[in-house]
Amino acid sequence: MKDDTIVAPATPLGVGAIGIVRLSGREAISIASRLFRARSGKRVEEFQNFRMYLGEMIDPRTDRAFDEALCVIMRAPKSYTREDVVEFHLHGGPLVVRKALEACLRTGARLARPGEFTERAFLNGRIDLTQAEAVASIVRASSEKVLELSLCHLAGAFGGKIRAWQERLLLIEAHIEASCDFPDVSLENVEEFVQKELLTLSSDIEEELRKSEQLKPLEEGTLVVIVGKPNVGKSSLLNLLVGKERAIVTPFPGTTRDAIEEFVLLEGLPFRFVDTAGMRKSDDPVEKIGVERARAYLERADYVIAVFDRSRPLEEEDIELAELVRSRPHLVVLNKSDLPSRLSLEELQKLYPKEPILEISALTGEGREILLETVVRYVQDCLGPEEDLSLLTARQKEELRRILKICREALEALEGDVTLDVVSVLLSEALAIMKRLTGENVDEKLLETLFSHFCVGK
Ligand code: GDP
Repeated sequence: MKDDTIVAPATPLGVGAIGIVRLSGREAISIASRLFRARSGKRVEEFQNFRMYLGEMIDPRTDRAFDEALCVIMRAPKSYTREDVVEFHLHGGPLVVRKALEACLRTGARLARPGEFTERAFLNGRIDLTQAEAVASIVRASSEKVLELSLCHLAGAFGGKIRAWQERLLLIEAHIEASCDFPDVSLENVEEFVQKELLTLSSDIEEELRKSEQLKPLEEGTLVVIVGKPNVGKSSLLNLLVGKERAIVTPFPGTTRDAIEEFVLLEGLPFRFVDTAGMRKSDDPVEKIGVERARAYLERADYVIAVFDRSRPLEEEDIELAELVRSRPHLVVLNKSDLPSRLSLEELQKLYPKEPILEISALTGEGREILLETVVRYVQDCLGPEEDLSLLTARQKEELRRILKICREALEALEGDVTLDVVSVLLSEALAIMKRLTGENVDEKLLETLFSHFCVGK
């Protein structure tokens, strides 16, 4: 156990139903006994683990109560940090929470750094580093799938995988060592074994990295870009998709001069919908910039919705747009189905002979369901099956790429004219990286950067 006792608000500072202040460390229980008076008269030291007690929070300077609260204690090692932990559940007002914090600080606790509770859980051996990182991704998760996968990592799935790879490397090393110590072991056999094992390991790691790429739309949100010439109803379509008035809708062409981006969850999947400036040739410098931005968005788009207007005949701009969109994954929408037709489905179909076109009315909402369904299905199809997804942090990807590079170097070395101990040196490097991944062997600097991204109180 570390010597000092830390304290932090565990809930966001602001007005809410309850505000929680959490203590962890050697002094947690004795600090609590000076700040909390149970209504039953029971001393905090006598509280049962994991049981809530009703009472009052006491200001140690005045000995007067400043809130009615619940207190729960979790004695080491059965707690989040493996240290003694105390939580005060207060009324959720910023002043109350601040007073409770100050009282703890005055009684001997120190303010926790971001992520310090989780860091202690790691340092005290309750979780490995992959599990600590999973805690951060649970807190940040913006889609249900990411949440699910984070929970798997918290349960140790990724850590287990790395340890299995570590064992594989140790086995390879053992074979190399044996070939050095016992000259009668066939060198050819050993080399063959090492090569086979390294190939399997590399392809496992490649697979993991590939699976994590699949997850990108779930982590960052699928970028859906709405394009079309001015006034076809792009802003109205954005509002229809996100279900609120976000983009400005006017009857004047060219009003959306910049791109507007909206984040929404549909069926638990995160989307970033972008309404772009209408694509047309313009001399207005501001509108020109807007059109350039729209093009840039189009390049980055994961999915494009090309909008056409049923109430106006096909124009040069529509044909150019159709050309522009064709090379990207896209959906064609014929808007304003409530108005008399001056652009028929058949005519538009000539521009897109091989694909379905959705007829909708952004104004009345007709066709909204099928539009949403199509967009969601596109992402679901891209994601593929569950077992084809892997959640990795940027650090984990970087380290895995390093290991992969080392494996490839080792394989090349095997092909060349080097002795096996060169391969062995390379493999020790790979092992060291694996230990960094699980946190078995990390330096303080890495821990500091890693936990600084956590929130205070986590
Ligand atoms: P944008 O310039 O492409 O973003 O188009 P807006 O969304 O600003 O819409 C331009 C005009 O068309 C506005 O007056 C909208 O009310 C109107 N509009 C958009 N969608 C529809 C629709 O489905 N039916 C009808 N009748 N009008 C629409």
